[in-house]
Amino acid sequence: MELGEIILKNSEEIKEEVTSWRRHIHMYPELSGREFNTAEFVSNKLREFGVDEVIENFADSTAVVGLIRGKKEGRTVALRADMDALPTEEKTGKPYSSKIKGIMHSCGHDAHTAVLLGAAKLLCNLREHIRGNVKLIFQPCEERHDCKGAKWLVENGVLENPKVSAIFGLHVYPELPTGFVGTRPGPLLASSDVFRVKIKGRSSHASRPHLGIDPVVVASQTITSLHHIVSRYVDPLEPAVLTVGRIKGGFAENVIPDEVSFEGTVRALSNEVRENFPKLIERVLSGVTSAYGGDYEFRFEEGTPPLINDQETTKFALLKMAELLGSERVVVLEKPSMGGEDFSVYLQHVPGTFIRLGTGNEEKGTNYPLHNSRFDIDEDALPVGVAVETYLAVKWLEEGK
Ligand SMILES: [Zn+2]
Ligand SMILES: [Zn+2]
Repeated sequence: MELGEIILKNSEEIKEEVTSWRRHIHMYPELSGREFNTAEFVSNKLREFGVDEVIENFADSTAVVGLIRGKKEGRTVALRADMDALPTEEKTGKPYSSKIKGIMHSCGHDAHTAVLLGAAKLLCNLREHIRGNVKLIFQPCEERHDCKGAKWLVENGVLENPKVSAIFGLHVYPELPTGFVGTRPGPLLASSDVFRVKIKGRSSHASRPHLGIDPVVVASQTITSLHHIVSRYVDPLEPAVLTVGRIKGGFAENVIPDEVSFEGTVRALSNEVRENFPKLIERVLSGVTSAYGGDYEFRFEEGTPPLINDQETTKFALLKMAELLGSERVVVLEKPSMGGEDFSVYLQHVPGTFIRLGTGNEEKGTNYPLHNSRFDIDEDALPVGVAVETYLAVKWLEEGK
């Protein structure tokens, strides 16, 4: 039997087990940076499978990092899953619904964790086929920028000892039917950064505006002008988004307040566009507020860079997935999306590919979007994910460049 066939068969054989892990993790979701029980569940499983090295609390975080050593000497490939859930009240009504009030795996990270556990189990039994090592990264805190996620792990050496030569990861994707996988070389997801602004004016009676400086008017002008950044200062051939999602100010209809604050996000598919945003925003703020005699405070919080799939690794991944699943099940995605993912941080340091795992199924009602309170996956996608991760790891070590 070909290795691909063996891996597909093995993935089917452990489907029930992987499903039960997924459901367990789904029932007990934990928020970003607090993945204590999930991490313990993961490390117990890895030890049970006989993974050669298991590091818990990697770099003082809830990350679990495992290492499987192959029978042959070679390079190291990494597989990454994220483990955190979101502050959402689950409304799927499924028997395995979240048992934790107000917290839910609405981004499918339960599935990513279960899939990587499945791959770890298979890889432990395929050591004679492994030329080098497979590093397993179970990462906390993908959903937030203020706890120990990908950036923290990379800064603390997760890609060293042994040095990682390539990395693969996947994300469930309800827009692609179950059984299908998709990706594309180059940009797949956008950068995601946050800006916070306070416009400072001077309070006065609403009937005597000339005695104050109205921050409501200044904020309105500022927000309108900020929207011209994308249309006037970004190359029209470069996708970019600037959205002000929140605004706050004032107390009463007849009082001009002292200040108005607002917050927003900026997205881009290239590092150049991303890097220009802070100074463009600040230029608008300083120009508009000074025109009205007001003042401002500005904070730009760096989130994640754009997710840019490596050309070579991604062509390799597309080819190998077609070999494994049949080319009709592998989609070269036409367009990137403006969502964000901190897998992009790894890709700034090592070549790799982020893959979309189809989980959409109308009949099973698994077409709700990510982060929706009714989001669920078609569990038939789990063995597909397991097979893809396992196959890519083994094949990349053997044939990858
Ligand atoms: Zn998410
Ligand atoms: Zn996610």
